Amino acid sequence: MSYCVNCGVELDSTAKKCALCETPVINPNIPEEVKKEPAFSSEVFEISEGKKKKFFAALASTIIAIPPIVCLLINAFIYIIIFVKG
Ligand SMILES: [Zn+2]
Repeated sequence: MSYCVNCGVELDSTAKKCALCETPVINPNIPEEVKKEPAFSSEVFEISEGKKKKFFAALASTIIAIPPIVCLLINAFIYIIIFVKG
């Protein structure tokens, strides 16, 4: 059984507000702060994970992009040698 902290009226176990004075019912067995905490921490984790993914995506793109650039430079170098010699 629970009672209103403001007016002392007996409250229903499922009631979220006092029927008489509309004071919000706080149930210590179901703390609202604990419900909010995982949502907050998971949101922060998600953001950091996204940054990590972006970083690794950029790193992978750079590593993948290096060989074609090197090949292009070698090709350009060979073409210049041929052009200068020829
Ligand atoms: Zn009340």
